[in-house]
Amino acid sequence: MPSVQNTAAGRLEGKVVIVTGGASGIGASAAALFWEHGALLVVADIQDDLGVALVSKLGERATYVHCDVSNEDDVAKLVEKTVAEHGKLDVMFSNAGVIDRPFGSIMEATKADMDRVVGVNLYGAFFAAKHAARAMVPRKSGCILFTASSCTAIAGFSSHPYTASKCAMVGMAKSLAAELGQHGIRVNCISPHAVSGTRIATGSEGLPVPIPEMTAADLAEMGNLKGQVLEAESIARSALFLASDDAHYVSGLNLVVDGGISVANPCMM
Ligand code: NAD
Repeated sequence: MPSVQNTAAGRLEGKVVIVTGGASGIGASAAALFWEHGALLVVADIQDDLGVALVSKLGERATYVHCDVSNEDDVAKLVEKTVAEHGKLDVMFSNAGVIDRPFGSIMEATKADMDRVVGVNLYGAFFAAKHAARAMVPRKSGCILFTASSCTAIAGFSSHPYTASKCAMVGMAKSLAAELGQHGIRVNCISPHAVSGTRIATGSEGLPVPIPEMTAADLAEMGNLKGQVLEAESIARSALFLASDDAHYVSGLNLVVDGGISVANPCMM
């Protein structure tokens, strides 16, 4: 059994943690929380200004690396650099993701939509897992965590390419958990529902499309916890649990963080 470090303030004390897509949104919130909990943090993203600003604000124990997760060389270098600097990798939080559009008919969906979304969401997770596993297997310990989505538990709210990419990610996480468990490596997913704040999708013409924010009233109508809006920090807290030794016996799980919406709406997969 791993040594369990369950202090309220330092759940990731001494752990080397990569957060991809860590420059904004859920990733930035998780990066800051992981850092507060003692992690030696590597933030990876393509938005360099935001990433550099975040690690400068956090200060020591935080560094930024430019990494396009859809490019395997970038991901391999990210892991190599991390191990060269810190001697190991304990947690790979593969969180970077894109949305093509809020929802669109299959009749209008394009191969370009599918390629872009699968290229970042699924290939990004695949490369992250592959290179993290290469670093973790020799040490017989590690944690790989993917950000999937509540579209893995409830249909009809996300585009088809996005849903396909996230459901495939959950399947891959289970298959990785089955392979890597023997090496002491846990693999899990966290699946948020709509997080507060405007999200920007990329339309099929490559133009940004703002996704309307879900109000507390919308969420209440869907049957979640008293219509509470979900904040990125709540996802970060659930991710902290899965990344830490508190979850040392949890592997192969898709933790859906949706205030109960997927069980209140009977269209689950
Ligand atoms: P966000 O856009 O604020 O963050 C995504 C981050 O990923 C950005 O910093 C972006 O620069 C980065 N990124 C995009 N493409 C990249 C690439 N090729 N290489 C490296 N980094 C890249 O959005 P978010 O909502 O915080 O999304 C984080 C994750 O949560 C995504 O995987 C998303 O699919 C998932 N998610 C979000 C919600 C939500 O409501 N916000 C719901 C379900 C799932």
